[in-house]
Amino acid sequence: MDIKNLKILFTEEQIQKRIKELADEMNRFYGDEEVYTVCVLKGAVMFMTDLTKQLNMPLKMEFIRLSSYNGGTSTSGKVNAVDISLPDLNGKNVLIIEDIVDTGLTAKFLLDFLNCNFHTKSTKFCSLLDKKTARVNDIEPDYYGFEVDDKFLIGYGLDYDGYYRNLKYIGYIEKSDLE
Ligand code: 5GP
Repeated sequence: MDIKNLKILFTEEQIQKRIKELADEMNRFYGDEEVYTVCVLKGAVMFMTDLTKQLNMPLKMEFIRLSSYNGGTSTSGKVNAVDISLPDLNGKNVLIIEDIVDTGLTAKFLLDFLNCNFHTKSTKFCSLLDKKTARVNDIEPDYYGFEVDDKFLIGYGLDYDGYYRNLKYIGYIEKSDLE
């Protein structure tokens, strides 16, 4: 994959503006209530850091690592819990932070895991991107930044074979440019 073939979908300014809007909505919803954010590594790391800097309530940050991608651009269709150690979340407000909901399998796995293990006070799912047309279940994020087409996206946390997570913007590559 040649970075020159990357077409910009969302600029840094567009991403930061939308994150501020999401944070404003969350600040209104949670008020002064304590929140546990759960960042799904590695893809959500950029979004989590920029979003949480705009949140005003007392919050604690947790990190879990799941994987479903084969390394390149295709999902394995099976979610793998690489590290899902979490503190006691009973009675807590939990805000899951994801980079993208694609098939919805990862989101479903995580929501089922939380439901089975904890009685939270509230559980909300926030994803920067929502690829609604790729969904295989009825998962809908409570908060999302942008709805996107079924293209392979790269940047701002999203990788291609481990690279390009550090881009400040989000782009896509045409399938024909992937090989
Ligand atoms: P799902 O389980 O919803 O199919 O996929 C969730 C995970 O797949 C995301 O957290 C992300 O890591 C990966 N993923 C889905 N779509 C894309 C994409 O367009 N680009 C990249 N880089 N990763 C994606």
